[in-house]
Amino acid sequence: MSAVLEIRITLAGTERVVAAGTTTGEALGADGRTVIAARVNGDLRDLAAEVSEGDVVEPVAIDSADGRAILRHSTAHVMAQAVQEIFPEARLGIGPPVENGFYYDFDVKDPFTPDDLKRIEKRMREIVKQGQTFSRRPVSDEDAREELAAEPYKLELIGLKGGAAGSDDGADVEVGGGQLTIYDNLDPKSGELCWKDLCRGPHLPTTRVIPAFKLMRSGGAYWRGSEKNPQLQRIYGTAWESREKQDEYLRLLEEAEKRDHRKLGAELDLFSFPDELGSGLPVFHPKGGVIRRIMEDYSRRRHEESGYSFVNTPHITKEHLYKVSGHLDWYADGMFPPMELEGARYYLKPMNCPMHNLIYRARGRSYRELPLRLFEFGTVYRYEKSGVIHGLTRVRGLTQDDAHIYCTRDQMRDELKSLLRFVLDLLRDYGLEEFYLELSTKDPEKFVGSDEAWEEATETLREVAESENLELVLDPGGAAFYGPKISVQVRDALGRTWQMSTIQLDFNLPELFELEYQAPDGSRQQPVMIHRALFGSVERFFGVLVEHYAGAFPPWLAPVQVVGIPIADAHAPYLQDVAKRLRERGIRVEVDVADDRMQKKIRNAQKAKVPFMLLAGDDDVAAGAVSFRYRNGEQKNGVPIEEAIDEIVDAVERRVQV
Ligand SMILES: [Zn+2]
Ligand SMILES: [Zn+2]
Repeated sequence: MSAVLEIRITLAGTERVVAAGTTTGEALGADGRTVIAARVNGDLRDLAAEVSEGDVVEPVAIDSADGRAILRHSTAHVMAQAVQEIFPEARLGIGPPVENGFYYDFDVKDPFTPDDLKRIEKRMREIVKQGQTFSRRPVSDEDAREELAAEPYKLELIGLKGGAAGSDDGADVEVGGGQLTIYDNLDPKSGELCWKDLCRGPHLPTTRVIPAFKLMRSGGAYWRGSEKNPQLQRIYGTAWESREKQDEYLRLLEEAEKRDHRKLGAELDLFSFPDELGSGLPVFHPKGGVIRRIMEDYSRRRHEESGYSFVNTPHITKEHLYKVSGHLDWYADGMFPPMELEGARYYLKPMNCPMHNLIYRARGRSYRELPLRLFEFGTVYRYEKSGVIHGLTRVRGLTQDDAHIYCTRDQMRDELKSLLRFVLDLLRDYGLEEFYLELSTKDPEKFVGSDEAWEEATETLREVAESENLELVLDPGGAAFYGPKISVQVRDALGRTWQMSTIQLDFNLPELFELEYQAPDGSRQQPVMIHRALFGSVERFFGVLVEHYAGAFPPWLAPVQVVGIPIADAHAPYLQDVAKRLRERGIRVEVDVADDRMQKKIRNAQKAKVPFMLLAGDDDVAAGAVSFRYRNGEQKNGVPIEEAIDEIVDAVERRVQV
């Protein structure tokens, strides 16, 4: 008589009837290796979770973004277990998955050594092999407190619970509001408890499902990211769905390390970060200075050709300006503290826009002057936490290639179109070829300006993306309240993406600064304002280019374009003469007259990543020729001097890579 209770669920879009008590894993027919978890009504769940009436159940593959996060977080548990077995006094912090890996923080007496990491990794391999199961167990707050009495950091998290949701320190992987859960690691044979952790989950079914992992490094990290809290020791690791994927990732990392602009910047003598100046404040050395000047000169020329007016503004201002602009309300955290002078408070400027607005407002404007495009290499100062400062890509003093464009509503469409094309063209000239666009659209709850203006701007940006055949990623509701934004994301030579240029519409500042122009009918109208930075900052763009080119800049940007290498001392004057003729054509050339042997000079030029080496020996001198040696080691002998000069000048003028 006893009828089996049946429930209806939706699986891969199809309705299915299953017995009560069916797990997501059973419903999905998951093997627990390629499909390692489920998404139920939008939330991630273990394969062991039971389904309920009306559930919509989808598989989570180990090689998906969600799957990798679960794999990595499970590996973090395995690592924490290994750490506590080897260092029983280690107390647990937080251990979330991160991009490409995971970490876990521990309170330990001494920092971990590389040998410690090896021991931990070895123990992890044993735990993986053993196939411990991850078993979820709901607990009351009170029980959790009792069970975790020896883990002070976990106790603190229990106290946070709801408050941890959406926090950016990773605390929400452990407690996310609602019911607390503990994950037990159980011995697959005896069912005995091996280890446990306060955790929201979900997890892999067993540790055996971890296909590939590696511990990467360790370092200090403050509890919950605040320097007021105790310093813990963080171990970073990576985990992947296959050995091949992991190897691929490690190779990419190795390549990225070789290209690290901080390392190349020192090796190639381009820039440095003197301690005396303070964190995030770079200086450019002569060679870096040349590259920077060429970058800027070219940008200036292109802007001039495209109808921009050049302006200049100071580095500091009285605070009133940033009160009017609202920066002191919503950007104060990103600014350097004020300084007092003659009874007034002054700020280092974090943005140029308010000053450009003053230039706009300096006199009455007519519609005939619009669009008015103001451009400046404007140096700004921003307070970045010391923990996030990174080489040239995240600094405290930076120079923006900043433009503000003031136009009428009717001009907005054409202006945006030509602007985006201009940006993409210029990025291509610097050798960046792969882009996609990200469009942040209106947050319906919070915006200024008319619906029509937002709509038109958004549609225009979408049209341009389509006409350029570029992938467009939408960030719905992601725009700032004052206007929609498009950002150009660039893929570099290693396939990494960098946010470069941004084009931001602004319906707010023209209002705050009471900007106006006189329309053809004599009425006073408010212009639309567009903020646009193309490099983002010169420093960051420089850093990205160093890594993109691995320091081997194309000839037009290379600080030294040609090195002359005499085969013997006697050939030096001949090459000096060639160098003089190159210089007359605008080429940056040096002749290596050091005492070193020729082979050593060639190696030095290779290390400096000089695009062209010109060699000369007796035969060359007799024939009025030189011999090329290129970066790839190829050689071309007996090239008549005039021809050689033309080849070099041509490569520079066409801005090609060699
Ligand atoms: Zn966890
Ligand atoms: Zn601006």
